[in-house]
Amino acid sequence: MIYADNAATTKMSDAAIEAMCACMKENYGNPSSLYGVGQKAKEALESARDEVIKAIGADNFREIIFTSGGSEADNQAIRTAAEIGRKAGKMHIISTAFEHHAVLHTLKRLEKEGFEVTLLDVHENGLIRPEEVDAAIREDTCLVTIMYANNEIGTIQPIREIGAICRAKNVLFHTDAVQAVGHIPVNVKEDNIDMLSASAHKFHGPKGSGFLYVRKGIPITNLIEGGAQERGKRAGTENVPGIVATAVALKDAIEKMDQNAEITKAKRDRLIAGLKEIPHSAINGDEDRRLPGNVNFCFEGIEGESLLLLLDDKGIQASSGSACTSGSLDPSHVLLAIGRVHDVAHGSLRLSINEEITDEEVEYVIKSVKEVVEYLRSFSPIWRDLVAGRKKFIL
Ligand SMILES: *Cc1c(COP(=O)(O)O)cnc(C)c1O
Repeated sequence: MIYADNAATTKMSDAAIEAMCACMKENYGNPSSLYGVGQKAKEALESARDEVIKAIGADNFREIIFTSGGSEADNQAIRTAAEIGRKAGKMHIISTAFEHHAVLHTLKRLEKEGFEVTLLDVHENGLIRPEEVDAAIREDTCLVTIMYANNEIGTIQPIREIGAICRAKNVLFHTDAVQAVGHIPVNVKEDNIDMLSASAHKFHGPKGSGFLYVRKGIPITNLIEGGAQERGKRAGTENVPGIVATAVALKDAIEKMDQNAEITKAKRDRLIAGLKEIPHSAINGDEDRRLPGNVNFCFEGIEGESLLLLLDDKGIQASSGSACTSGSLDPSHVLLAIGRVHDVAHGSLRLSINEEITDEEVEYVIKSVKEVVEYLRSFSPIWRDLVAGRKKFIL
């Protein structure tokens, strides 16, 4: 089996599993308890926090809140900025059309509460232009939230430049860095980031564990009321085993990041070169400014879902980056945002690899995708129309 869906989730690293099991077996205390086992759990929690601080270039333990993952961190960051904005009479938020639904759906809720949201266009290459962020900022803008790297097409945004613009204009800047942290260098200070979301299961840590960075001095809104955990900003007994494993996975990912990225990029580029040979296909997103492991293509005249099922039969686990897989017939909002028309967006394939894929597997994937695309086209009515000239090729 070839697992090529690391953008959906990753396999936990052995080190993270071991740390998690050891914590569950031995370090079972409640960090809020004052006696020995409780204090031992508290120590594990705080040393995990120190690791996270180091990993993203933060300053201070108060800047990290452990959450149930990326979605919760996104919700909390956006709510935090919205509360600050509401109090100051600033109810305008800037984001982009290709954010994760954890961001887009939170913004939809805020619109119902009276906020105005501007979603910036994403250009054909899958990149946001800093000057357009600059132009969209108004007197009443309380937040700019733009993802670090896109989960479907892998494009890496000019975060540092956008952050500098927001800083200069005194507007809070949040980035959903779930796809970036542990994969490419991220530094909250150098990148001018005020708030950042991350999720452990995207960097070989456990599911249901993540964190939110909030720069010192920004008053945080809590989503969950209850006890005084996480300095009163996120109630509920901490997921100590998950948090410990998160820190281990993150440390590991960052130590090996440069080396793994180099290996992964070479394989990614071979996959891209191989898939480009398929006629009437196109890569989605900028070819260079993309995550080391992301390959995303559209193939004209086919349906992404059939492609996935047939690849699964060949032992290749991938994704279409389309909402079809979850029962909806809408094509991916990300592909529509970069200007793909519905028909083309339907025929998409996302392969998200890591350094473990072998060269032989890469060749097998290329060969398999070529075969499956050709097979699906052989009985596709759309393809027949395209070939007969009744319909115009787009790609
Ligand atoms: C996976 C993902 C999320 C959600 O993270 P969870 O931990 O699954 O809640 C948010 N944003 C992006 C970009 C993601 O890839």
